[in-house]
Amino acid sequence: MSLLVRSIAELVTNDPSLGDGSALGLVHDAALVVEDGRVAWVGDASHAPATDRVIDAEDGTVIPGFVDSHTHLVFAGDRAGEFAARMAGEPYTGGGIRTTVAATRAASDGELRANVARLRDEALRQGTTTIEVKSGYGLSTADEVRSLRVAREITAETTFLGAHVVPAEFEGRTDDYVSLVCGEMMKSALPHARWVDVFCERGAFDGDQARAILLAGMGVGLLPRIHANQLTTGPGVQLAVELGAASADHCTHLSDADIDSLAGSTTVATLLPGAEFSTRSPYPDARRLLAAGATVALASDCNPGSSYTTSMPFCVAVAVREMCMSPAEALWAATAGGARALRRPDVGYLGVGAVADLSVLDAASFVHLAYRPGVPLVRTVLLNGEPQ
Ligand SMILES: [Zn+2]
Repeated sequence: MSLLVRSIAELVTNDPSLGDGSALGLVHDAALVVEDGRVAWVGDASHAPATDRVIDAEDGTVIPGFVDSHTHLVFAGDRAGEFAARMAGEPYTGGGIRTTVAATRAASDGELRANVARLRDEALRQGTTTIEVKSGYGLSTADEVRSLRVAREITAETTFLGAHVVPAEFEGRTDDYVSLVCGEMMKSALPHARWVDVFCERGAFDGDQARAILLAGMGVGLLPRIHANQLTTGPGVQLAVELGAASADHCTHLSDADIDSLAGSTTVATLLPGAEFSTRSPYPDARRLLAAGATVALASDCNPGSSYTTSMPFCVAVAVREMCMSPAEALWAATAGGARALRRPDVGYLGVGAVADLSVLDAASFVHLAYRPGVPLVRTVLLNGEPQ
């Protein structure tokens, strides 16, 4: 079965060998053919081959599906009250995570599953076609495994984040909790996870603890990624680079050495501007990272405490407005950048051979993602070549 997407005013391929030769590989007056779930042909609309089915983009823009490489979708309850208090002037400390842990432990499997499905559908409607989901609100072996099982039902990109915070019952016994995470909990999580992650931050896990946890995960075959340098400068970014982590996430407080390390590595700097927006904090310095040559990704960090959004268009708009990324840099970071942060060479672009994950935008140009913030521009989403 073949499918033609025609009447594309602007096609973003993220393949610099196509179109205008920029990083976005822009093709104007374009068409795209999908066969067996993959992109089979891209080019000038006037040369498009015949196909079994047709989707008319009506002079809209087609972009690769967003790759949201950082979310915490498995949780119960919300923290709207905490958000309102913070907006009224109280600082964000991360302590509210325990509130969500209590609600998540108390929830039934069905409640967790329904919440994840609701958020996944919300993201899909806004053009997210690949999504990473972390555990981290269970913090017991049984609850972490349950969280990962629920996450696995909607994505292959599951991350074991038993080291999110130290749970209340281990107060003052962080080393005992790290031993549990590295031992029984890691072993039980393994069949359900691809990645291992740690919240390396003052008040969570220090550099030595983070190293022990990531090494334990790597020792059983999990791939490392890390929450690093969100609230303070710290050892997280250096550790990520040293261990060859796919991504260091947040990167809000970076030293010159951190920037140099990222620029000289394959570790992606994943920026999460929804977190700074929702905690009214200073944004990461994307320009410094880009100027140094680091690979930058954008992700939502969707979670009920510090960034309760599933909207990648929102993250793109904030990155452009508040972090001085160009609209092209921000879109690339939210698609190809996310794919690199998940080590996924098959998604995040629309060259021949790519998975046919894409969105048709009700817009003459991709620039409208930032130019028209808050407007639902995503008209149609294709996932593996199938309209959703
Ligand atoms: Zn996070």
